[in-house]
Amino acid sequence: MEKLRNTSKMVEAVHQSECIFITTHKSPDGDAIGSSLALKSALQKLGKKVTVVVPDAFPDFLNWMVEKEELLQFDTQEEESMQALEKAELVFSLDYNTISRVGKDFEAVLRNDSTPKLIIDHHRLPEEEVFVAGLHDIEASSTAQLVYDFIQCFETEDLIDPFTASCLYAGIVTDTGSFRFRSTTAKTHRVVADLMDLGLDTGEVYNNIFDSNSADRIKLLGYVLGEKLTVFPELELAHIALSKEELNRFNYKSGDTEGVVNYPLSIKGVNVSCIMKENGGIIRMSFRSKGDIDVNTFARTYFNGGGHLNAAGGMSEDSLEETVQRFEKSAKEYFG
Ligand code: 5GP
Ligand code: MN
Repeated sequence: MEKLRNTSKMVEAVHQSECIFITTHKSPDGDAIGSSLALKSALQKLGKKVTVVVPDAFPDFLNWMVEKEELLQFDTQEEESMQALEKAELVFSLDYNTISRVGKDFEAVLRNDSTPKLIIDHHRLPEEEVFVAGLHDIEASSTAQLVYDFIQCFETEDLIDPFTASCLYAGIVTDTGSFRFRSTTAKTHRVVADLMDLGLDTGEVYNNIFDSNSADRIKLLGYVLGEKLTVFPELELAHIALSKEELNRFNYKSGDTEGVVNYPLSIKGVNVSCIMKENGGIIRMSFRSKGDIDVNTFARTYFNGGGHLNAAGGMSEDSLEETVQRFEKSAKEYFG
């Protein structure tokens, strides 16, 4: 059986372990946190001691999950994180394809650690040699959907309680852009239907995630759309570039620009969108596209990143102005 579709080996590994360590990517999003806490909660019901360690801060709109199930943050709780890893007999890598996605310091720790690692993920080109087994499917809407499948493999009743269902739904609803992206399939809706049967309140989760904005966040969105949107109709492309000063003006917090990159795509004739943000000495970039336009390869080729066909990220160490110019030049070359 293919190594990264080997759930029986994964189930066996869980049964043989008492302490389990779950990791996810840097700047964790709804799918990262939702998948991690759902898996934690299910494995605990199997009697396991489980620790979730995220590399760094997560956005406020995910607080409602973390209030119910604890997690550690590597950048501020390194010692506790290291202790948990030392005790662990099994490591899960959720929602990332390569260990470098956890950030430099945490990556060094994980690469040095010999605990067997399992991957559950939906990003292209997983770093296969690192994992002993996994559940990897680039067609899955979200890692949360794969975690749901994985939990079914234990053939045990009651592993998904209403809270676990909420975490899985949070991952699915955020990664599918509320069920509108192409990755949304009949299977995605079937999984959600099952979660509803298990006690999921979709309205409550939706409200927790989407109706919990700060006024600053909405004002930043207004500023971005009113003043910062640059459209290139002939290239069917738009971009948004935000300096540190601009972000500070709106008291920017991690997650405040989540989803903003999708707005330009709602303009008729725009098929590629990019947001560039000055953040801690580097420029973080997000790319989105429609149809068969491949921003994954674009991000890999020009901006040291990657992701999916229609949603990818990357970075630049140049200034914001230089990055914008380099983006315009490379976009012309690649998409033009
Ligand atoms: P976002 O733009 O929301 O940060 O990321 C879009 C998608 O691309 C996500 O699935 C994310 O995991 C992936 N991604 C973002 N940044 C990077 C990166 O630097 N490298 C790789 N390989 N994937 C990334
Ligand atoms: Mn995901």
